[in-house]
Amino acid sequence: MAAANDGLNGSDILVAEGLASGYGGMQVLSDVDLRISRGEMVVLLGANGSGKTTLLRALMSLVPLYGGTIAFRGRDVTRLRTDQKARLGLAYMSEFAVFPDLSIDENLSMGGYRLPAAMVKDRKKELYAAFPVLSGRKSHLAASLSGGQRKMLGFAKALMFRPELLLLDEPSAGLAPRIVTEMIETMRLFHEREGVAMLIAEQNILFMTAASRGYVLENGRVVAKGPVQDLERNDLVRQAYLGIARA
Ligand code: ATP
Repeated sequence: MAAANDGLNGSDILVAEGLASGYGGMQVLSDVDLRISRGEMVVLLGANGSGKTTLLRALMSLVPLYGGTIAFRGRDVTRLRTDQKARLGLAYMSEFAVFPDLSIDENLSMGGYRLPAAMVKDRKKELYAAFPVLSGRKSHLAASLSGGQRKMLGFAKALMFRPELLLLDEPSAGLAPRIVTEMIETMRLFHEREGVAMLIAEQNILFMTAASRGYVLENGRVVAKGPVQDLERNDLVRQAYLGIARA
């Protein structure tokens, strides 16, 4: 897709260039470029094993980088540790985002572990108001929650320290369609209310409705990118995600 029509606007919050990453001797990502503007919602599409999780983990320093650079909020963070990136406002919600043996309230405390106690209290109050399904069960173990409720808790936990960019790994995995819609609505709400930018790794194309731009990964490489309206017309996306055969 032409660079002139990649749909970028506003100032970049994240710029990754030429990323390569993998596990031991097995390279998974090659030459991945990614840009996210402040407050932008971006979807990262890709089939099982295409490298979505590896990309999010590489951005978060949870897997080693073999090459490339990452700038966050205008600063080179390529060699920073996970906790240092978190302190700058980068958050990651993994597929298994909660501690099942801790209560809902303790999970939120873990999300805000580096905040002063008074701020933790205020932030919890705000999040419980936004997630009523959690507020009535503060002392319940996260293990007792349904799949959808666990995802909501994982999302709330990631929001505890008001990140500027949230990386979400398959928030819809294992959820019923109705719950997926609820999840998208909640993500939109926080995006509008707090201006948090999000990179959403997904196989579910419903998330294209929440995003302004998208990237498609295949075998660890970006094979398509651009505004979601353009991606919806892209043959590759139409075949792989919309079940539409090439004419
Ligand atoms: P999924 O939707 O199944 O999570 P994905 O797009 O997130 O897929 P990754 O999980 O990043 O893809 O996997 C990319 C490749 O890396 C796959 O070939 C996978 O087998 C491999 N891989 C993932 N995790 C590891 C690991 N811990 N050790 C070795 N190889 C791994």
